[in-house]
Amino acid sequence: MDINDFAEHLFAGRWMAGTNILDAIKNAQRLNSLGITAIMNYLGEELTKEAQVSKAVDMYIKLIRYIKNYKIKADISVKPTQLGLSISESEASANYSKIVAEARLASVFVWLDMESENTVDSTIRLYASEVQNSGVGICMQAYLKRTESDIQKLAKLGAIIRLVKGAYSTSKSKGFITREAITKNYANLMRIVFEQYTEFTIATHDMEMIHNALKMNETYKRKLTIAMLQGIRNRTAAELAKKNKVSIYTPFGEQWVSYSYRRLKEAGHLKLVLKSLLEKQGV
Ligand SMILES: Cc1cc2nc3c(=O)[nH]c(=O)nc-3n(C[C@H](O)[C@H](O)[C@H](O)COP(=O)(O)OP(=O)(O)OC[C@H]3O[C@@H](n4cnc5c(N)ncnc54)[C@H](O)[C@@H]3O)c2cc1C
Repeated sequence: MDINDFAEHLFAGRWMAGTNILDAIKNAQRLNSLGITAIMNYLGEELTKEAQVSKAVDMYIKLIRYIKNYKIKADISVKPTQLGLSISESEASANYSKIVAEARLASVFVWLDMESENTVDSTIRLYASEVQNSGVGICMQAYLKRTESDIQKLAKLGAIIRLVKGAYSTSKSKGFITREAITKNYANLMRIVFEQYTEFTIATHDMEMIHNALKMNETYKRKLTIAMLQGIRNRTAAELAKKNKVSIYTPFGEQWVSYSYRRLKEAGHLKLVLKSLLEKQGV
């Protein structure tokens, strides 16, 4: 095994469902057997060539048909720059609509991932073009100061959101920089989401936020889902799934390097990374 194969085995094996669609289906079936819904993502982002974009769109269409045929409980989650946003917004919009139309026929829910801050306006516009027909959701990031106003506007459209802390970085003027400040804003946004939304996903591994959400839901009684990433705290996810709606975001594909890099970066320090990699796979 050379160093690339070793790295792929170590990282892709931990944080991803595998490199091909059948790996992804098998992994989703395993999650389903634990009462967990898979959120399936085909890896790829910042695509600038038409051929790469078409390949990604075709893969999502195929994935939707597989989910339907194998009767899997799974959503899909797509990245706008994978659908051609780096080429043009109209290209991304046409591809997003094509995927959503296919997904509606198969009753598969479609999430829009949120990427770096320069894509937020166009991602919200893509989402707004489909929100009225239901079956679609959008990710919102607590590290950006604008998000509070964005989620208030999206609530009025009847949106379904997935609240995350954010995997990207920003400037002090536009965002919260420290983990503490981001977490504080996450708690603030979560309160607004409970007040203004009927259905949403709290996507974090921060146990304090998860416990707070479950506690608040005793009062609000919303359609609440807790979501985590594949390979992080998944034994806790399986425990939570015994009494709550739980999803796990599970990417697959060959483009695993940038995704692994983000997971490594947010793990913060080597000890945490090693602990996460060496921990026995719970699910
Ligand atoms: C379902 C889902 C979908 C997401 N979609 C998006 C998206 O579309 N756009 C986007 O910007 N971000 C997305 N994210 C990523 C998110 O923004 C955060 O980067 C990520 O979830 C880590 O933040 P946290 O909320 O877990 O809190 P943190 O404060 O970072 O972590 C809380 C605790 O979780 C554990 N932990 C967190 N990360 C790791 C890790 N990599 N390895 C080991 N332990 C770890 C640690 O114990 C840590 O103390 C998504 C996350 C989830 C769960």
